[in-house]
Amino acid sequence: MIYYDKLIFELSKNERIGYHFKSDDFKTVTLPSNLLRMEPLDLPEVSELDVVRHYTNVSKKNFGIDSNFYPLGSCTMKYNPKINDQLASLRGFQAIHPLQPTSTAQGALHVIYETNRMLSELTGMYAYSLNTFAGAHGELAGLMIMRAYHDKNKDFNRQTIIVPDSAHGTNPASASVAGFNVVEIKSNDDGTVNIEALKAALNDTVAGLMLTNPNTAGVFEKDIKLVADLVHEAGGLVYYDGANLNALLGKAKPGDMGFDITHLNLHKTFSTPHGGGGPGSGPVGVSEKLVEFLPNPHVIKTDNGYTFKNFEDSIGMVGSFYGNFSVYLRAYIYILSLGKENIGKIGPYAVLNANYIQASLKHLYQLPIKDYCMHEFVFDGLIDQSTHVKTLDIAKRLLDYGFHAPTIYFPLIFSQSMMIEPTEVESKETLDAFIHALKVIAEEAILEPEKVKHAPHTTPVRRLDEVTAARSPKVSFKDL
Ligand SMILES: *Cc1c(COP(=O)(O)O)cnc(C)c1O
Repeated sequence: MIYYDKLIFELSKNERIGYHFKSDDFKTVTLPSNLLRMEPLDLPEVSELDVVRHYTNVSKKNFGIDSNFYPLGSCTMKYNPKINDQLASLRGFQAIHPLQPTSTAQGALHVIYETNRMLSELTGMYAYSLNTFAGAHGELAGLMIMRAYHDKNKDFNRQTIIVPDSAHGTNPASASVAGFNVVEIKSNDDGTVNIEALKAALNDTVAGLMLTNPNTAGVFEKDIKLVADLVHEAGGLVYYDGANLNALLGKAKPGDMGFDITHLNLHKTFSTPHGGGGPGSGPVGVSEKLVEFLPNPHVIKTDNGYTFKNFEDSIGMVGSFYGNFSVYLRAYIYILSLGKENIGKIGPYAVLNANYIQASLKHLYQLPIKDYCMHEFVFDGLIDQSTHVKTLDIAKRLLDYGFHAPTIYFPLIFSQSMMIEPTEVESKETLDAFIHALKVIAEEAILEPEKVKHAPHTTPVRRLDEVTAARSPKVSFKDL
């Protein structure tokens, strides 16, 4: 296997050839001499078979939702039905260009218009913009809308955003990038908003509150109406971080809870492959009174078909053209292929699966929030910590059993957080296998703690220095 662990450059042998181009494959053009390459490119010289084996072996090292269970809380790694890819690859979708005349792109504009309508219906918002490329990008656009609204009301004093300490890290980061001051308020023990802390933080400098519901500990904010009313009474707006809508889909709508602005992560809840940070789509939706501030351009329906329109009070463009078309196209297909009836089953199954795992393991793992959970929940490490096996060790040991680790050390309100989100797509057999692995690990932590502390034992690489890997990545196989 050592041979196949080599990189394609290392396998290179001078003048070994993998493929012959016929000279008539190319049109010949004469380039100006100053643009000609003076030295040959340093490309690997390998046979076709070497290339096939190299990439096949590399692909087998990939861990993905198509190969294994991926219970990554807050990230909603769920199966992406292949029909999404199939239809998104249709030539009519793939070959369109954002600058072609709208009369020749009516199908694509229909997708934008209808996706907007369906997301509005599902969340109880008035309208969306699909022009934002990620959850955090939707947050930024939403906060810019908040500012535009207060500015229009000449309410220039409102420079503060309230964020609970259980919030996703992007919330305070986006508020800060949007130029607001961030005030963090302490949550109750279950991660819900502490009403007294909220009241104390509200005043006429507050632009709004950002909230995830269910929160990052998987608990539904039962006082949500009161929270929204308090912020509104103080003149602020309420922002809904809807990155994970799984628990609510078809059952409850943020618009009904009093939220003014929301973003959704289509690459989480609405099925697009998103490992490794992309591609994404984070549409931002608003209530009726904020619609004029949405990013430009908008797709509108006229008697002569669909066309683009700019709104005068808009926060402007938030990216080139119209967002990540192929991602919201997948969301459109996903919603249509499920239909109204089946969309409504996502929430209940997501919640049932999470509760099944929670209930099956709570005698072994610390459960800081005892209640039923929504689509995800948090364990705070092992109950028996006598051998000092930590959450990191458990996460690494899970890799040996063929499971991706849950989200660990987030939310920050617990010290040994393991945040588990199975999603609605997994079978009972898969959930049982995962539960079994976590039971075995709890047993190993007592009987063979060193084995767990030095896991993983079966992966191509072991414990990596993740900080150095992120801060100074080596992107070449050679030491430069
Ligand atoms: C994933 C996530 C985000 C950020 O979304 P990105 O697309 O990664 O920018 C924001 N909030 C919550 C609750 C999330 O889970």
